[in-house]
Amino acid sequence: MSGVVGIYSSDRNDVAQLIYYGLYALQHRGQISAGIAVNNNGFIDYHREAGLVHEVFPKERLQRLIGNIGLGHVRYAFNTDDHSLLNTLPLVAGYKRGALAITLDGTIVNSDSLRDSLEDSGVIFQSELDGEVIANLIARNSKVSIEEAVIKALDEISGSYALAMMTNDRLIVARDPFGIKPLCLGKLGNDYIVASESCAFDTVGADFIRDIEPGEILLINDEGLRTISKKLKKRNLCLFELVYFARPDSMLDGKSIYLSRIEAGRQLARESENDADIVIGAPDSGIVFAIGFAEESKIPYAEGIIKNRYVGRTFIQPSQELREQGVMIKLNPVKENIDGRRVILVDDSVVRGTTIKRTVQMLKKAGAKEVHIRIASPPVINTCHLGMDTPSKENLISANMSVEEIKQLIGADSLHFISIDGFIKSVNPSNGFCTGCFTGKYAIDPVNDK
Ligand code: SF4
Repeated sequence: MSGVVGIYSSDRNDVAQLIYYGLYALQHRGQISAGIAVNNNGFIDYHREAGLVHEVFPKERLQRLIGNIGLGHVRYAFNTDDHSLLNTLPLVAGYKRGALAITLDGTIVNSDSLRDSLEDSGVIFQSELDGEVIANLIARNSKVSIEEAVIKALDEISGSYALAMMTNDRLIVARDPFGIKPLCLGKLGNDYIVASESCAFDTVGADFIRDIEPGEILLINDEGLRTISKKLKKRNLCLFELVYFARPDSMLDGKSIYLSRIEAGRQLARESENDADIVIGAPDSGIVFAIGFAEESKIPYAEGIIKNRYVGRTFIQPSQELREQGVMIKLNPVKENIDGRRVILVDDSVVRGTTIKRTVQMLKKAGAKEVHIRIASPPVINTCHLGMDTPSKENLISANMSVEEIKQLIGADSLHFISIDGFIKSVNPSNGFCTGCFTGKYAIDPVNDK
């Protein structure tokens, strides 16, 4: 998973500053690396590096990035320590028709076979990036216009993507034909901005216009906006965006994430038997679900766990010994609300099970009489090959244990997961969703389905 921003301006040359703030708003979508590329009179200048947005772009560096069209990217990696500069985006390349920069959130499932055939024809790759495969597919079609080359290149790929590309005079953005990855369009004065989530628009004062449609390729240049292709297959937005990834203050495919999560919390309460004194949310992503849960169950909501927001990426995990002594640097219970109470803890998901186990121990140590766990997503039983960097199946607790076994393992007094139908009904029943990691029904199968 990652976050993407693209801006086209006809009259300002400081779009890097706007991209910086847009990336700041999307930092939750990736903390491994950040990058910005800008078009400076036909020359593409860029910087990308491992680190958080503010670490990678101190003021002086940002001010040196001058240009009127730009791309930005933040990258996430759950499974990997790959901080290699070559695998960070935006990718900048030169081809017969000039300079090209690409940034992407997603995974191309037929990338290996495309890479093989490109290598067979003499192409040398410098990175493992799917964006480099796309750049080469575009470069191979240098005899036609860039628009046609992009359409042809995207016809060859299969996967999840929110893509933004830049030449010296235009921005081209595209969303995969299933709409697995989110991408939306906004406007700031006369300038256009695209971003993975609408919260990036609020940060820079832009207005949300609409979502980029699944399968849509949109061109933005000094003549304005033009959809150059639209090939919707079947709406299959990643359900995990609504569970966890997207910020609650974003809109995805026409729906407020906040309201969707409130409704899912309500549904979770309807689906489970609840007898407790207070409802608390696991910070941060369980909080909105917990508010909806409390409203529906009529059990009062209270602050139960405080998160230290200043524990950063470089945080050194306490050793096993210190953990056993109860060293909880990131999370701390509000004992006044927990002690002597029967507590319902609402969380967004359970992946490996390690965090929830530690949280139950923490609440019991703080004096909770009972700890009941309610999970606002169905059990995660499959890994994702579509751009969400999930652990392998043997590390997914729900793929290997029953709900009762998990309950015993984590030491909870009860455990309940929302049903898949209940979740979809509450978040956006008219949209289609990829539910692969919950049901095994993927928008695109692991093998290339083209
Ligand atoms: S498998 Fe899960 S995480 Fe991956 S795209 Fe589908 S819903 Fe999202």
